[in-house]
Amino acid sequence: MDPRSKIELLPEDIARFGNDPATTFAANLKTVQARIAAACHRCGRSPDDVRLLPVTKTVPAHILRLAYAAGISDFGENKLQEARDKQATLSELPIRWSIIGHLQTNKVKYLVRLATEFHALDSFRLAEELNRRLDALDRDLDVFVQVNSSGEESKYGLHPDDLMPFVARLSEYPRLKPRGLMTLAIFSADQRRVRTCFRLLRDLRDRAIRSHPGLTQLSMGMSGDFEIAIEEGANVVRVGQAIFGARPTGNAFYWPGLAEQ
Ligand SMILES: *Cc1c(COP(=O)(O)O)cnc(C)c1O
Repeated sequence: MDPRSKIELLPEDIARFGNDPATTFAANLKTVQARIAAACHRCGRSPDDVRLLPVTKTVPAHILRLAYAAGISDFGENKLQEARDKQATLSELPIRWSIIGHLQTNKVKYLVRLATEFHALDSFRLAEELNRRLDALDRDLDVFVQVNSSGEESKYGLHPDDLMPFVARLSEYPRLKPRGLMTLAIFSADQRRVRTCFRLLRDLRDRAIRSHPGLTQLSMGMSGDFEIAIEEGANVVRVGQAIFGARPTGNAFYWPGLAEQ
């Protein structure tokens, strides 16, 4: 059965996503993919080197059925509880869940059961707990080490100076498969400042990869800045609003301390 036929849209769904969300998402997806391809073309990269990770946070589970119908099966969520609730509702769909936001240690037991990758590793405490819980389930997890590339207090992630000592010890956690680095650039209309954040992450990756050949990937770039991120070497772009429309909650809701814009 076409998953669309099972959905009854609520008035608030129509207000936020329109009358035909599946068609809208599919069209937005195509546009974002075309923008990714164009950005790659501009800087001589292959679009195959850039993976689009759709970010589904705040999009209700019943609407995500329409996203799935529109061809989206990788879902990035930044809150574990929200991901758990959606996963329970959508358990019959073959969705890959990526947790991309800060994680409290007491939520690790849930993450290891549902996530295929984790983009916000930034402490040994978390690494230890992840490894322990993964080992109990006899599974591995792809991880990205988050770096605070903007120096903003509101952002999670390791200080750039702490990255090398951190990755040097990751082999103590054999269930973690470090794939690369992740960052959130500064929210700024000044593209140079945004670019500086991405460039810093790339430089760190270039340094780290010499001793840790598995650390190849850069997870960086969101709706507002993914083209700059691609120009600076992004391999994973995490894009929500350009596909699903503006969130009713602004960025400050997700990054406390950030001035609303
Ligand atoms: C929400 C979020 C994104 C996507 O942001 P958009 O503006 O919706 O593209 C990317 N990365 C992280 C960590 C997020 O929380």
